[in-house]
Amino acid sequence: MEQIAYVNGSFVPMADAKVSILDRGFLFADGIYEVAAVLDGKLIDNASHLARLERSVGEIELALPETIERIQEIQKELVSRNNLVNGMVYLEVTRGADTGRDFAFPKGVKPTLVMFTSVKDIINAPSAKTGIAVITVPDLRWTRRDIKSVALLAQVLAKQAAAAAGAGEAWMIEDGKVTEGGSSSAFILTQDDVLVTRQNGSEILPGCTRKAVVKLAEERQLRIEERAFTVEEALAAKEAFITSASVFVQAVVSIDGKKVATGKPGPMTDRLREIYVEFAKATAV
Ligand code: PLP
Repeated sequence: MEQIAYVNGSFVPMADAKVSILDRGFLFADGIYEVAAVLDGKLIDNASHLARLERSVGEIELALPETIERIQEIQKELVSRNNLVNGMVYLEVTRGADTGRDFAFPKGVKPTLVMFTSVKDIINAPSAKTGIAVITVPDLRWTRRDIKSVALLAQVLAKQAAAAAGAGEAWMIEDGKVTEGGSSSAFILTQDDVLVTRQNGSEILPGCTRKAVVKLAEERQLRIEERAFTVEEALAAKEAFITSASVFVQAVVSIDGKKVATGKPGPMTDRLREIYVEFAKATAV
């Protein structure tokens, strides 16, 4: 079956899903994106993703071309048209295509809205059992990482370096501390059982999965500290893991070739993964 995408009001075969070369997403990375997971044909934690979308577009003064309610309807229709059971819905909104390449915002130009789906069995992904290796790279990004901008070149380079090293993620380092993964939030569990993840701010993207995991952990009386940590601290930790819509909770078993604890996913990571999956299934729409 041919994959169906959504482009500016129409559902079209992927081969026909096109935007102008003058689109500001293409020319300037003047756009915002979101990725929501799909389990059993339903969207996971989507209200959180759409709230972050609204915040991100607000921060760059980009008006959404559709209401949030309509965007969710389109996401659902796309899932259904693609018969998607497990995977992700990607959506991107840009400041549209002007008649030329002026940096300043164009007037009277309709933003571009595109969406497509991809298939992924997140729950049964082999790396969920084995854990992943991470490498560390300098954080080369701009200083508004709280905005989910499509300007992802630093993450492309970071994740390519990870792939070339046979690792599953790159942790980005700034001022000696981990900011976050190339496309994930970073956590450690210290030897005294404190979950540590960096506090939200302009240095990191406020991860939706991070937010849910922190809340679920708090509800279970786990101790949490939202602060930056070093790679040395992570290597001395009991456990380390990442969170994102496309992996949920994923153990990190080595950093730059050095084992974290036993080099196997830890019990707290496995438990938080189970708890997150329960939450995801119970709240899916
Ligand atoms: N941090 C960065 C830089 C990301 O790109 C992502 C997801 O793409 C995340 C964190 C995790 O966010 P979420 O849990 O909302 O998928």
